Amino acid sequence: MTNYTTQMDAARKGIITPQMEEVARDEYRTPEEIRDLVAKGQVVICANKNHKCIKAKGVGSMLKTKINVNLGVSRDCKDYNVEMEKVMAAVNMGADAIMDLSSHGNTQPFRKKLVEECPVMLGTVPVYDSVIHYQRDLSELTAKDFIDVIRLHAEDGVDFVTLHCGITRKTIDQIKNHKRKMNIVSRGGSLVFAWMSMTGEENPFYEYYDEILEICREHDVTISLGDACRPGCLADASDVCQIEELVRLGELTKRAWEKDVQVMVEGPGHVPMDQIAANMKIQQTICMGAPFYVLGPLVTDIAPGYDHITSAIGGAMAAAAGAAFLCYVTPAEHLALPNVDDVKQGIIASKIAAHAADIAKKIPHAMDIDNKMADARRIFDWDKQWECAIDPETAKAIRADRAPEFDDTCSMCGKFCAVRSMNKALAGEHIDIL
Ligand code: SF4
Repeated sequence: MTNYTTQMDAARKGIITPQMEEVARDEYRTPEEIRDLVAKGQVVICANKNHKCIKAKGVGSMLKTKINVNLGVSRDCKDYNVEMEKVMAAVNMGADAIMDLSSHGNTQPFRKKLVEECPVMLGTVPVYDSVIHYQRDLSELTAKDFIDVIRLHAEDGVDFVTLHCGITRKTIDQIKNHKRKMNIVSRGGSLVFAWMSMTGEENPFYEYYDEILEICREHDVTISLGDACRPGCLADASDVCQIEELVRLGELTKRAWEKDVQVMVEGPGHVPMDQIAANMKIQQTICMGAPFYVLGPLVTDIAPGYDHITSAIGGAMAAAAGAAFLCYVTPAEHLALPNVDDVKQGIIASKIAAHAADIAKKIPHAMDIDNKMADARRIFDWDKQWECAIDPETAKAIRADRAPEFDDTCSMCGKFCAVRSMNKALAGEHIDIL
């Protein structure tokens, strides 16, 4: 029997949990350092007590930047076996978390299979599941129905849940008066907004927040405070709706911490590059250092088909400026449910963004692998280069496709290879070019 409820409760009691030890090893920190950061809410360890196979990871701006992969079936693409294959492929490619955003069929068997087999953090958005779980129209659901689905996910073993607690009835007027270009683009946020509009009632995730905190405390489910008003285009970035919601998320963070419930705060969205660092700083101030989980940010609106790149640019900047957790974006964003290749492209782009930010943030040992790569490149040790590469398969395939005549070059410059010339020059050897 453990004598604590959540990781935060344990940390505040001075207890070092096995999960804190695991995180400390992974991050080159002492268990005491991790415990103190968890106690302050600056690091979360999303690890539901019922998720037995999890390898615990810490999320916090001073730790390695983590990446999340969204998966799950939809009405148009409903094969759960294909989705499970994508999940395991994503884990093998380095995903730190999987969010199951399934919006069709009986979601519980898939969720339970994830909890049994998937070793990374698992997240859900219970408001999506509410409609399909009850098979009733949104307007016919009650506040209690929503809360019961949160409880179901907590009991099933989900490690974190996105809850759109930050919009209230006041937001309805704000959205109408403010005339945003893209209104609300958060799927969960739009459902909560629609439910409030149709029923005339207050946001149940806000109104019954204390009850939700009790559920999360019991199972150690981390709340990911959803940003319903995240900007869906550059023109809506950093506007009144977004900032007003963020202020409320700060208040809700404090209330969760009072009950030892761990919290992450979700952030934008589509944001011009010159506003990204400011957004990170405002979040850190208003939410008192709670880990920031950003969905992008996408730095331009005009690249459908390439939004893994627009978001990797924004994600790298955001993480370097303090974001702790990046939600991947695939080339299919705004267009379709991602297929296996889209998922791969999205993961690679996010991993590049996260790693680049970790180097800028001087995360311990983050640059070791870059140094190894440089050494391998200098001596043309191709096998070592593949070992260091984020995507060795693609790197190998490109080299094999356009193989050079001499192994100590590549087909880009051939015998004009600068690396080869310098190696030979410094060794006092003759450099044959022609
Ligand atoms: S041939 Fe050119 S591109 Fe290729 S390894 Fe040498 S310097 Fe680099």
